[in-house]
Amino acid sequence: MSKILIRGAKVLGGEAQDVLVDGETIAEVGTGLSAEGATVIEAAGQILLPGLVDLHTHLREPGREDSETVLTGTRAAASGGYTAVFAMANTHPVADTAGVVEQVYRLGKEAGYCDVQPIGAVTVGLEGRKLAELGAMHDSAAGVTVFSDDGKCVDDAVIMRRALEYVKAFGGVVAQHAQEPRLTEGAQMNEGIVSAELGLGGWPAVAEESIIARDVLLAEHVGSRVHICHLSTAGSVEIVRWAKSRGIDVTAEVTPHHLLLTDELVRTYNPVYKVNPPLRTEKDVLALREALADGTIDIVATDHAPHPHEDKDCEWAAAAMGMVGLETALSVVQQTMVETGHLDWAGVADRMSFAPARIGRATGHGRPVSAGEPANLVLVDPAYRGTVDPADFASRSRNTPYEGRELPGRVTHTFLRGRATVMDGKLA
Ligand SMILES: [Zn+2]
Repeated sequence: MSKILIRGAKVLGGEAQDVLVDGETIAEVGTGLSAEGATVIEAAGQILLPGLVDLHTHLREPGREDSETVLTGTRAAASGGYTAVFAMANTHPVADTAGVVEQVYRLGKEAGYCDVQPIGAVTVGLEGRKLAELGAMHDSAAGVTVFSDDGKCVDDAVIMRRALEYVKAFGGVVAQHAQEPRLTEGAQMNEGIVSAELGLGGWPAVAEESIIARDVLLAEHVGSRVHICHLSTAGSVEIVRWAKSRGIDVTAEVTPHHLLLTDELVRTYNPVYKVNPPLRTEKDVLALREALADGTIDIVATDHAPHPHEDKDCEWAAAAMGMVGLETALSVVQQTMVETGHLDWAGVADRMSFAPARIGRATGHGRPVSAGEPANLVLVDPAYRGTVDPADFASRSRNTPYEGRELPGRVTHTFLRGRATVMDGKLA
């Protein structure tokens, strides 16, 4: 069946309209469209958005298939309403050559749930010493445009400068994991009142902010663009705001968990709350929401970081850092941004689809819901209320901080170029 009529959904949260999909493309948007020859999806009360785009996903393949594979990770992405994900380079082997990025790209095509755009490493082996073959990765079949040593910071200023200069030539971008390594040696959680009370090694805000300040100045100096991964402090927001006011070409992302959770949760010593960068304070959370609302922070990115049970089922100090996030991101954004009045659904479409597609140059994604555009779409039921049960996840890992928590909203349908990857809330 090649024709689908999505009937009566609120397009980007606006007027209820019908959307006719024919093959891979949106054929018509209007009211009272004919259902002749089409499968009809009754979508009254639901929100229709362009397919979500995640600029920061860890798919773990190759090398850690016990925590996630390209197949399981893209199934999780489709369940969460995503039609494109950017896969981080910290795999084993590291995605620092054309061969590895092409492998990940091909695995994404074979899986067929979601487009996978590999991110290339900035430096060989993520070691921070020698630039990886950025040009060869860009020229490969994977067409890499985003480069990152995520998990590690490119802390050498000369290497960072060279990377920014190099990617400028082909319109690429360096995505920086901003963490000054010496300031975070032995760090276990946000440095503040809670870390002092618990006696855990503190992760000071300045470790993030000092790298962001340096990098926006480097980007200005070489006239390149830079992207800041998972910004987490109120001070980081101020630096990015200042840089944008100067016309520096900087973009920034925030994760859903940094929009909702605080370091108070570390008092439970439950390693599910251990993440890099760490959960911060209520003041930071509120500043991040404001910044995402006013556009200082451009996008929401999940930093979906699957870990096998044994890497989290241990004492706090030994536990791996990271949380899964693809399947709960939209619900957390609905709760923290839509239901608080910070963003409307058109704003959500911008921060989770249009803007990330633009930053990553994801062709065919983040497009308007209008005739002639690729049918990458997600339908959301905003009235739904449910309790998060990790047993329902398509991801191979279960390390969610939201287990047992009630979150609003549910993805009912996801379409990748007109083909349903999620139908009635279930993977197709
Ligand atoms: Zn990171």
